[in-house]
Amino acid sequence: MTHLVIGAGPSGLAAVKTFRQAGLAVEAVDRQPDIGGQWLYGGAASAVYASTHLISSKGPTAYEDFPMPADWPAYPHHAHALQYLRDYARHFDLMPAIRCGIGVRHLTRNALGWQAEFDDGTTRDYQGVVIANGHLTVPEMPEIPGHFDGQVMHAKDYRTPDLFTGRRVLIVGMGNTGCDIVVDAVHHASEVLWSVRRGNHFVPKFLGGRPADEGGRRGIANRLPRAWRAKLHGAVLRFVVGRPEQFGLPKPDHGMYDRTPIVNSLVLQHLGQGDVALRGPIREFAGSEVVFADGRRDQVDLVLFATGYRATFPFIEPGSLNEVDGVPHLHLNIFPPDDNGLYVAGLLEGAGIGWGGRALQAELIAAYVRARPEAVATFRRAVAATCSRPRPAAQGESGFFVDYAAYRRDLVAAMAALR
Ligand SMILES: Cc1cc2nc3c(=O)[nH]c(=O)nc-3n(C[C@H](O)[C@H](O)[C@H](O)COP(=O)(O)OP(=O)(O)OC[C@H]3O[C@@H](n4cnc5c(N)ncnc54)[C@H](O)[C@@H]3O)c2cc1C
Repeated sequence: MTHLVIGAGPSGLAAVKTFRQAGLAVEAVDRQPDIGGQWLYGGAASAVYASTHLISSKGPTAYEDFPMPADWPAYPHHAHALQYLRDYARHFDLMPAIRCGIGVRHLTRNALGWQAEFDDGTTRDYQGVVIANGHLTVPEMPEIPGHFDGQVMHAKDYRTPDLFTGRRVLIVGMGNTGCDIVVDAVHHASEVLWSVRRGNHFVPKFLGGRPADEGGRRGIANRLPRAWRAKLHGAVLRFVVGRPEQFGLPKPDHGMYDRTPIVNSLVLQHLGQGDVALRGPIREFAGSEVVFADGRRDQVDLVLFATGYRATFPFIEPGSLNEVDGVPHLHLNIFPPDDNGLYVAGLLEGAGIGWGGRALQAELIAAYVRARPEAVATFRRAVAATCSRPRPAAQGESGFFVDYAAYRRDLVAAMAALR
């Protein structure tokens, strides 16, 4: 019987390719009109803005068996990323297995596995389902008391910086997206304020003229325990970049590899040049003013929340993915406790994962589907053990953060045990 893949972004494409190469029947659907997921700029699921370049460089981002062209820049533009994904799909002849412009509305468990109901009301039965629906589509918006007269928006709806022109702009949030948008705003807005809650570590895009993450996958440092790596790389960054506090930012209260770091060479420069004024968390809105936690007030025309996204699975009964605080609690971020033919792909956050990391997840799922019953039985014990323990604090605020060096080792070991 066939497996269904929900989503044809980088994770879904890797799943289709891996299943086909493993000789497993597979088909995929994506609600957007084309493949590419986030990288289909302007698509309903995409949070990519016009100035987006990859945050991870092309080597560590690319699938391991399909490098990006040598003459592309180190951090390709989003249009390149989409072209690359289309080339990948063409190269591995994936398109005949993918239907675009149609989504999965509901999954129902039945005797054969899962019945999928599609947006057009049709249904099909599948042996199993790889859920690769992405987690950067549903905005996380904080509740701010009071009323604001100006414009409020989330980064999900941000595309081009012309909307900042001549306006007093407040960007809220210091993730990689928030940092990119601050840099965009500097060149257009009359004034840029930046509301920052927590500190983070900053990595420049280039070190010694080379992408900072180059060699990340196989570098010797990756074999060191996380705390040692953090010490080593933290010392390099303090020397090259300085401490975030020197730019007025909060001191990070976590280690270098405990959260996704900021990869941005420009935003600290703009802070240092005085192009951006830092503010703390927002306390309330008051007409045309924003009031901050320290009592400071500013007149603002536009507030843009770069406050992240929520992972959602609206097509499946709550509880099917062992949700804890609304986030699936899964073995290796993939396997729910029930041996029910559901697998989650791409529910990952952290530096260095790239699309190769997502492909490795797909390889593990395919290995599991093909494994001998004795190997499956042993694996299920590991799944049950993970899922019955509380989620480790190391998985961060999102609940699905991974330290990729360690995570990759776990995936490879799990695969070896299933073969
Ligand atoms: C600005 C920005 C910069 C980024 N930079 C990097 C980077 O440098 N390196 C990196 O590795 N990652 C980066 N990312 C993260 C990005 O999410 C991943 O690169 C990648 O797109 C994840 O792939 P995915 O397939 O898991 O999810 P997505 O790309 O989000 O694809 C999910 C797909 O599932 C489809 N879907 C959802 N629900 C349904 C349904 N019910 N039925 C059918 N289809 C459905 C969606 O339409 C979508 O096409 C960036 C993200 C953003 C927003």
